[in-house]
Parts: sequence; structure tokens; C-alpha cells
Amino acid sequence: MSAERVEMTPTPAAQREAPVLEVKHLSIEYAGEDAAVRAVTDVSFTLHRGEIVGLAGESGCGKSTLAYALTRLLSPMAAITQGEILFHRPDGEVMDVLALSPEELRAFRWNELAIVFQSAMNSLNPVMTLAAQIDDAVRAHRPHMPRAERQERAISLLRQVGIAADRLQSYPHELSGGMRQRASIAIALALEPAVIIMDEPTTALDVVVQREILTEILRLRDAFGFSVIFITHDLSLLLEFADSIAIMYAGRIVERGASRALYAHPRHPYSYGLIHAFPPLRGPRRRAIGIPGSPPDLRATPPGCAFHPRCPLAFDACRAVIPPLRPAPPAASGATDNDGVTVACHLYDPTYSRAQPTLETIASAYAAAAERSAAR
Ligand code: SF4
Repeated sequence: MSAERVEMTPTPAAQREAPVLEVKHLSIEYAGEDAAVRAVTDVSFTLHRGEIVGLAGESGCGKSTLAYALTRLLSPMAAITQGEILFHRPDGEVMDVLALSPEELRAFRWNELAIVFQSAMNSLNPVMTLAAQIDDAVRAHRPHMPRAERQERAISLLRQVGIAADRLQSYPHELSGGMRQRASIAIALALEPAVIIMDEPTTALDVVVQREILTEILRLRDAFGFSVIFITHDLSLLLEFADSIAIMYAGRIVERGASRALYAHPRHPYSYGLIHAFPPLRGPRRRAIGIPGSPPDLRATPPGCAFHPRCPLAFDACRAVIPPLRPAPPAASGATDNDGVTVACHLYDPTYSRAQPTLETIASAYAAAAERSAAR
């Protein structure tokens, strides 16, 4: 993988240290036919001001359920069974998001936290022009703002996301996929929220448009100072522009850390597989590896480490004991700093494993597993 990365202006360190959203020990269940199905288990992370946190993992790993829980938009079949979501306002007040009344929740959404969905076509209203949709969002939350000011705001927001003012009267179907996604971002920005959740916002777009939109998000983040939770199954995309990344598997975070640290040295075998499952957006091509098998059915999650049926390095303890998320050892031997990485894997627990695996060990285990499967 290339060491070349998207350059970006870092948010000032003093601001970055301030938390804006804290998720503590969050668990979410869906009502099942016979029993409840746990979709998210004991997830904790902190989003800081101006930070871009990526949530990565294959479909069904719980990342979108987690995003909907943060906005309290979960389907009626889902329930938060444990945990806290705390929002830190700039004035120092801490809001308990799970305790907000319906009226407080309406004010919280869009004003403090907005969401951009995967399919702009589904989230934009097909029978309203862009101008009317932005105006609607602003008028609902700023009823006293004069009409002329709202119109100016709509033009300025579209300009910010790279859409010319002459598109104001366009309907969503008259725009390209990239432009529709930009328009969704403009609507999310309308009330200058502190946090924007982006659920696979570029998945349906081609690589060039994807890159343009990511560059735009970075620029807007630097201009407006909002924080982003960016959800994707494409880890190599996140490595290009997120500050930190949490990798989810079967509803749990299995590795978390600064994206540079994860990029240079993924500890968890699943993280390694995900990074190498996609071609890098930049730099020389490399052969993609496949992670054998598919994610588990959450109605019957494997015992122990849920990744063990697919892991080329699994051993006995993996099939019996759930590995907790704990600080990872430093990547290089002799180093003392672990770059803040935490990992849930028995290979890094001295109780079970004497020597932590190197990148080469993980690569050879995947190669051997691929050879075995080809020989079958
Ligand atoms: Fe693989 Fe075991 Fe680590 Fe799970 S705990 S990722 S099965 S080595």
C-alpha cells in the first residue's frame, strides 16, 4: 500500500482535545421471532471537536445500527439495552441524548447533529427543488429568520459544496449522483451542527467523484469545524482521510486507533484482511486478498471471538473466550508507545500468546488459508 495520503489541515490541538460526543458501553438489540438479537455490544468511543472518526466493517457488523442509535432514529424493532450517549455543547452543558424528550430531540437533530444517508435519492424529497428543501430545514428550526436571509443561506450552502446557484431550482432527478450527495451534505450543514454522521455517503459513486466529495468534506470540516462519524465498508477509503478509526465485527469494536497507526500496522487479523481487501485509492496497485467466509448471522454468533471461523490465526482459546478490547502492545519491538491503539484479539494477550504476530505472520497466514481453499 502506498504511503501517500490526502493532505489536510489539522484542527487546532486545543479544540481537538474537547469531546463533542461520548458513547459509553452501548448495546442494541432487535426483537427477533424467538429471541432478541444483539446487533451492537458494549461499544464505547469519544468523538472530539473537528475530528473525523471512521466506523468500518462489512455489512451487518452493526455500524449503521450504531449510527441510527446516535440520532435516536432506530427502527421500532430495535432497543438500546445498555449504555449512554452524551453530547457536549460548546457552552459546557452535557446532554444525555437517550433522555431527550421528543421536542428536545427535534431541536437536537439538525441543530446539533445531522445525518447524511447512503442514498441521496432516498433522503432528498423528489418533488421539491433544492432551494425549497434547504429552506424547509432552516425554516423548521429558525422560524424567525427572514426569507431573504434563508435564500442567501441556501445559495451560500450550495456554493460551499460546489453546486452553482443556478441549480437552486433543480429537482433531485435533474442532478448527477455526485451532485445529489453534495446537496444532501449542504442540507446537513444548513444549521451548522457540531456533528455530522455520514452513512456510506459515497458508496454508490465512482472513484473520481468519491475522491472529490471526500476532499470537499475535509475542506468543509476545516471551514466549519464540525466533527464527522463516517461509516463505510471500505477501510482503505477511511485510511485516506479519517483521523481515527474503529473497526467493527459482529457488533463489537475489534480495533480502534489513529488511522495512521492502523494503516501502518493493523493488529487485528480482521483489520489486516479489510485493509487488504480493497485496492488503495492512490499509489501502486497491489493484489487484494479475500477474507474467507462471510460475517456471522447475529442470531447465532460463534462462541469466543466471533471472527474465529474466518481467522487464519485462530487457536483453541479463540473458540471459547471473547477477547476484550485492551491496549495493544507497541507495533515495533523495543518501542514503548502503542499509538493509542486498542485491540480485541488473544494474540496480543500474554495469557494466551507468547509472541505477538508481525504483519508478515498475518500475511502468510492469509496466504496459506487462500492456498488451502484453492486446493480444495
Ligand atoms: Fe483470530 Fe483469535 Fe484473534 Fe479472534 S482472537 S482475531 S480468532 S487470533
